[in-house]
Amino acid sequence: MTLQTRIPTLHRPPTVLIAGGAGFIGSHLCDSLLQRGNAVICLDNLFTGRIDNIRPLLNHPNFRFIEHDVREEIEIGGEIDRIYNLACPASPSHYQTDPVGTMKTCVVGTINLLELACRKGARVLQASTSEVYGDPEVHPQPESYLGNVNPIGPRACYDEGKRAAETLMFDYHRMYGTEIKVARIFNTYGPRMLENDGRVVSNFIVQALRGKPVTIYGRGTQTRSFCFVDDLVRGLQLLMESPASVTGPCNLGNPHEVTIETIAREVLSYTESASPLRFEALPKDDPKRRKPVIDTAACLLGWRPRVALQDGLQATIAYFALRIAGESPTLVPAIASRRTGHSTRSRLKATDPGG
Ligand code: NAD
Ligand code: UDP
Repeated sequence: MTLQTRIPTLHRPPTVLIAGGAGFIGSHLCDSLLQRGNAVICLDNLFTGRIDNIRPLLNHPNFRFIEHDVREEIEIGGEIDRIYNLACPASPSHYQTDPVGTMKTCVVGTINLLELACRKGARVLQASTSEVYGDPEVHPQPESYLGNVNPIGPRACYDEGKRAAETLMFDYHRMYGTEIKVARIFNTYGPRMLENDGRVVSNFIVQALRGKPVTIYGRGTQTRSFCFVDDLVRGLQLLMESPASVTGPCNLGNPHEVTIETIAREVLSYTESASPLRFEALPKDDPKRRKPVIDTAACLLGWRPRVALQDGLQATIAYFALRIAGESPTLVPAIASRRTGHSTRSRLKATDPGG
């Protein structure tokens, strides 16, 4: 089943609100939904999002940007058919900057969007996270696993906030019949991550391109499973347009599990960087292993990731290389070698005209 067949038959383009639409994933979702003929309202407080991510869309007749914090009540005129709630900082360094603010964004923000959904009769998709599984004792993680979260640790504002948001989604569904979808997103990467984002893929790429030490926390034996953003955005839309009976939670992620040291070495190889590895302290409560079971998404949505890690990393490296090339190209081996034609990485190409 394709996405196109599931878009409801309306006499106008479906109107989609994307809270957090100026962020990394949200801006790719804005692009994709506009390309599919939707009217898109992007609502964002620009905490970790950037106008640059959506700048090419600002003059599009079907696009509207509203600067707003989801913790404040949300009033928007006109019809809204779909609401994606992506509004929340996703990087540990950002969500731990203001933990009370993060919890409020997850709880109050989700209530405000669910209230809006009730008023508009809209369907809501919540961007939940693999962090609801905490430091998992079950591996790989199916949706039935209830998790192992430390409720008082530094990650709790995000993990418990996202768990509470899931609770709210299901309580609105049971009490008011709100149509809901809960996506549990596993580590996602790609163009438009912030240079100072703090997450592993962007950190390693930026460090390697700048010739700075690549910072591995702990021994680098902890694992993650990385999904390229295009795959994730396709999965989110398939889940949103799935039959009303499909509420989730639904894992969306790439089951290809790798150690953090492997990611570091691959990034060093693709960037042709001579950066050394630097081992630093492992942050508290850092999950040791993470890998999604994606049978639900495969069976109910026909979804599987298509982009191999190597290709996704190359595309992401190309994006960051372009962004930081102006700083000091001679300090960026991968950029310099490509400029002088010595690169063996001919598959690297710029993928982000909007970024
Ligand atoms: P991001 O930080 O780039 O995007 C979050 C967006 O939400 C930003 O544009 C930010 O400005 C906005 N925002 C934050 N607080 C807000 C508030 N109070 N009001 C309005 N806007 C606010 O992160 P991302 O990686 O694009 O993640 C998007 C969503 O997906 C988040 O909800 C995150 O929890 C979830 N998620 C992401 C990943 C991942 O690996 N990228 C994994 C699991 C879940
Ligand atoms: N990590 C690392 N070096 C960095 C950033 C992160 O070794 O510069 C590790 C981090 O400790 C974790 C993994 O990479 O084990 C993924 O971290 P990230 O913040 O990207 O995502 P999350 O921990 O939320 O899955």
